[in-house]
Amino acid sequence: MDAKLPAELVRSARAIADAVRARKVTAREVADHYVERVTRHDGAVKAFLHFDAADIRAQADAIDRRVAAGETAGALLGVPVAIKDNLCTTGQPTTCASKILAGYVPPYDATVVARIRAAGGIVFGKTNLDEFAMGASTENSSFQKTRNPNDLARVPGGSSGGSAAAVAAGFAPLALGSDTGGSVRQPASLCGVVGLRPTYGLASRYGLIAFASSLDQVGPLALNVEDATLLMEVIGGHDARDSTSRTDDFAKLARAPAPTLAGMRLGVPAEYKSEGVEPAVRAAVEKCEQLAVKAGARLVPLSLPLTPYAIPTYYLVVTSEASSNLARFEGVRYGPRAHEKELVAMYGATRAQGFGDEVKRRIMLGTFALSAGYFDAYYKKALQVRRKIMDEFADAFTKCDFVLGFTAPTLVFPFGEKVSDPVQMYLCDIFTAAAPLAGLPALSIPCGKTAAGLPIGVQLQGPACSDFRMLRVARELERLLALDLSPLESPVGDAHGA
Ligand code: GLN
Repeated sequence: MDAKLPAELVRSARAIADAVRARKVTAREVADHYVERVTRHDGAVKAFLHFDAADIRAQADAIDRRVAAGETAGALLGVPVAIKDNLCTTGQPTTCASKILAGYVPPYDATVVARIRAAGGIVFGKTNLDEFAMGASTENSSFQKTRNPNDLARVPGGSSGGSAAAVAAGFAPLALGSDTGGSVRQPASLCGVVGLRPTYGLASRYGLIAFASSLDQVGPLALNVEDATLLMEVIGGHDARDSTSRTDDFAKLARAPAPTLAGMRLGVPAEYKSEGVEPAVRAAVEKCEQLAVKAGARLVPLSLPLTPYAIPTYYLVVTSEASSNLARFEGVRYGPRAHEKELVAMYGATRAQGFGDEVKRRIMLGTFALSAGYFDAYYKKALQVRRKIMDEFADAFTKCDFVLGFTAPTLVFPFGEKVSDPVQMYLCDIFTAAAPLAGLPALSIPCGKTAAGLPIGVQLQGPACSDFRMLRVARELERLLALDLSPLESPVGDAHGA
């Protein structure tokens, strides 16, 4: 039998923190519950790359000592938070699911991780991802394939597939992911949880291992919007260690007056409807539109003609930045080193052995796009289109408050379906890649399931720094949808069938 926390705690990170504060439950009891769930079910799901139960229990005991001494501050008191393995954690391995970082143990915490600890949260294991966050199914991990807890024969989405699966399976009430082109929102959608990509610069990137620096953002994954908001409040805000960190008054943003759907203008882009979207996904999102209308929102027909250009633009920017960022992994400073007599040969052999196929593909594409003869035609052109995408959104937000649409065009897909065809995999990002290019916040909340129990998400995109207002609108939608937002009792399906 799993150790049982009461259902109302398992459903809500906020309730856990309140119960620990009120001494109704100890942080150790909470940790034991989740450690036991992981021990029992992660053999089937494989959400975690590193999981140190002794360290987790020690963190919980330390919290309990604090509480016993009367120190009960901290928004995440005793709440386990699973961390994507591209975020640095002191004393715990951080590998980006890459062999090139095997055995790397950072001497410091990413700012977002440090803030979780400071808020009384428990750093609860490191979750699997596509290598260096490059992918949309977590199949590009060099170490293991994470299975979707809603159907073990299917992928969890990606690249934050381990974090999304961990929350959906009830291994942790909260998790952190990173979103460069959709990696928080798409796995959230495919696993049936909430995922937020904040405005660029609202959450610190210090200690997030860089993939594409102008796009990378850390974001929360949670069972419900309230918990995602709670985690965002903890991790967000200015950080002097990240030169792209925004300096807005974060507390003021977080306290933004709550808008309601009544009178709200929700933009519905015509171009979204013309992209190849699975009928079940279309139907679920349309139902969501109708609910919003019933609650008094107005649907504003929009045109975002650059929608089809988001993917080519994204893949030029992302590969160019990745080719530069990943130059640092050459066997000298981090991870294993290939044995060669010559220095340059050592770099080459280390990289040839250490990087997987998708990472190599992106380094080659990016190096090509940045090369002297092609820079103007590819990279520079992509930056120009990026600017136009920003302008298009700026114009859209003069006509509507938020854009409502799909998160992912497909349902959660079986293993192997797209991994051999990179272009098919890249098309998963059709609705998620534009917001990062424009630096805008976007989130995905569950909006239904197919008859077979496969989750479907709906996406909201908003103007810069509208994160907390958008979360409040999402919360109202969540209430109207009235779905059961509990974690799964146990993973569904046969792990051996995957
Ligand atoms: N699927 C996208 C990619 O492969 C998004 C990745 C991400 O957001 N980290 O680049």
